[in-house]
Amino acid sequence: CGIVGYVGPQNALDVVLEGLRRLEYRGYDSAGVAVLADGELAWAKKAGKVANLEKELAEKALPSSTIGIGHTRWATHGGPTDRNAHPHLSADGSVAVIHNGIIENFAALRAELEATGVEFASETDTEVVAHLLAAVYPTLPAGEGRLAEAMRQVSRRLEGAFTLVVSHVDEPDTLVASRRNSPLVAGVGDGEYFLGSDVAAFIGHTRNALELGQDQVVEIHRERGVTVTDFAGNRVEPTAYTVDWEA
Ligand code: GLU
Repeated sequence: CGIVGYVGPQNALDVVLEGLRRLEYRGYDSAGVAVLADGELAWAKKAGKVANLEKELAEKALPSSTIGIGHTRWATHGGPTDRNAHPHLSADGSVAVIHNGIIENFAALRAELEATGVEFASETDTEVVAHLLAAVYPTLPAGEGRLAEAMRQVSRRLEGAFTLVVSHVDEPDTLVASRRNSPLVAGVGDGEYFLGSDVAAFIGHTRNALELGQDQVVEIHRERGVTVTDFAGNRVEPTAYTVDWEA
């Protein structure tokens, strides 16, 4: 339902939670966050309001981090439980995924993954994306844009509507997002970058936004900034605009 991503100098959890609170107007049934610190993904997720998640975080503090993702869920596949809340992680803990929308062909993808021995931890359509990324990533050459390429390969296999944002333990300076039939905007601050399901996700920090088109993948990187491609990997120039409404 609502999506936030952040890479920059600030405490990522603070930025992500602020974004989630600003997205609360959309309505949702669960909320969750993940941050990446010392080569590991740490996460918390809870059914109910963002306030519930904050209570959980007060009891189980996440490590301090400057890269993070957050989600508010409107359940479509699997009930509104803690377990089905996003983010969803791959079995090896290497990838965390948040998702808005519906993966129409998730049942076939799930059956294919289960046949290879993957065990699922939730009833969501979303979880297939975490396992697919974890399977594809190691097959790709190391180097710049590896997670983005994994995202393109996985996105080409998905049917339906999705805004996806992923974080990978081997890329502590990168978040990658993908969209089809579901909204996604990027925000460009001063040495910091944002992803959102709408500009409310980052309006407290920057008014410089980039609109992403259908079937595009965007990478935000701490040093390299924003790189956009189509699902085939061709570079695309995103449309820049200034958000002019009052926050
Ligand atoms: N289909 C996904 C789920 O049920 C995402 C729902 C959403 O857009 O929040 O978990």
